[in-house]
Amino acid sequence: MGNYGVDSSNVADLEKIKANLEQVKHIVLVLSGKGGVGKTTVTANLAWGVATQDPNYNVGVLDVDICGPSLPRMLGADGEQVHMSGDGWTPVKTRRTFLVSLSLLDYDFAKFIPFKSEGIWCYYLRDGSGQNAQCIACKRILKSVGGSTKGMHVHQKAVHGIETSKRKVKDEVDTQTPAKNTPKISILDHFSSVSIDRSTDAVLARMIALDGLPFSVFVTSKDLRKCLNALGHEIPLSAETIKIKVCRYADTFREKVVRELQMEKEKGQLFSLTLDEWTSIRSKRYLNINIHSRTKVLNLGLTRISGVFSSEQCKYVIGAKLLEFGIDFETDIVWLQLMGAQ
Ligand SMILES: [Zn+2]
Repeated sequence: MGNYGVDSSNVADLEKIKANLEQVKHIVLVLSGKGGVGKTTVTANLAWGVATQDPNYNVGVLDVDICGPSLPRMLGADGEQVHMSGDGWTPVKTRRTFLVSLSLLDYDFAKFIPFKSEGIWCYYLRDGSGQNAQCIACKRILKSVGGSTKGMHVHQKAVHGIETSKRKVKDEVDTQTPAKNTPKISILDHFSSVSIDRSTDAVLARMIALDGLPFSVFVTSKDLRKCLNALGHEIPLSAETIKIKVCRYADTFREKVVRELQMEKEKGQLFSLTLDEWTSIRSKRYLNINIHSRTKVLNLGLTRISGVFSSEQCKYVIGAKLLEFGIDFETDIVWLQLMGAQ
C-alpha cells in the first residue's frame, strides 16, 4: 500500500504505525469466520455506545470488510472520503466516532479484488460495492445486484464455454447471508412453517392472522363459505365459534414450540433472540420475537406494542413472552439483537 501513506513492510513506516497505535488506549477486535452474523451491527453499536458515554472519549472504527463494507452507512458517513496524508489515512469524522472503511477510500483502490476462491467466484473479481463482478478471463464487468450470480454463470457458459451453474445453489449465496446456524426468518415464516397444514383450523387461522380477514366475514360471505366448503372445510355459523377454533389452533401451535424449546433446554442449550418490529395492515405495531438455538429458529409470535416503547418496557414484554414459553430471560438468553426495531 505504498501509495497510501504508511507501509507496514517498511521499517521506518512501522515506527510510525507503532507511534500511532501507542495513542490508542483500548482496541476491541470484532471478527467472525462467517458473514451475516452481525459483526457490523455489533461494531456500530459498541462504538456508538462507548462514544456516547463521555464526550471526551475518542472512538475510532476501522472497518476492514472488503466484500461489503456497510459501517459508513450505519455510522452516517456514506459518501464521505478518507483523506491521505504523509502520516497515513485521516479518518472520517462521523457524529460521535472516527471511521476508516475501505468503502471510504478512493474507489479504485477497492475496485475488483478476489472475493472468494470457490464456485463461480473462481472466475470473477468483485468490487467494493459488491454490486459488480469482473470476469478474470475477458475483463468484462457484470452486474451482480444483491450478490446474484445468475448472469455470471450465463457469461461463463456463453463466452468461455465453461459450465459453472451445475454447482449447488450454496455457491451462489453471498457471505452476507446469515450464518447456517441462524437461518434468516421473516414474520411470514411463522405461518409458512404451518402452511402445509390444510386443516380447517389452520386455514382459518392463516386467513385471519395473516390475511387480516375479520371473523365475521366467514359467517356473512356466502361465496367465501362456498369456496371453503368446496375445499372440504366446514365453517361454523358463528363468529365466536370461529374465534375459539382459531385460538385453540394458536394454543396447539404454541405448545409445539414450548415442547421444542424444552427439548433444547434439556440438552443444556442457551438461546439468543432477534427482535423486529412489524406493522399490521391496520397500522398496529407489533414486536416479533424469534428465538435461536444452535440448530433452530423458532418464532414466538407477535406482541402488540404502542406509543413510545422504552427499553425497560421492551425488556418486560420480552421477559413475559419468554415465560409463556418456559424460557428465563436472565438465565437462558445469552444474546439479543434488534433488527429494524427501534
Ligand atoms: Zn469473460
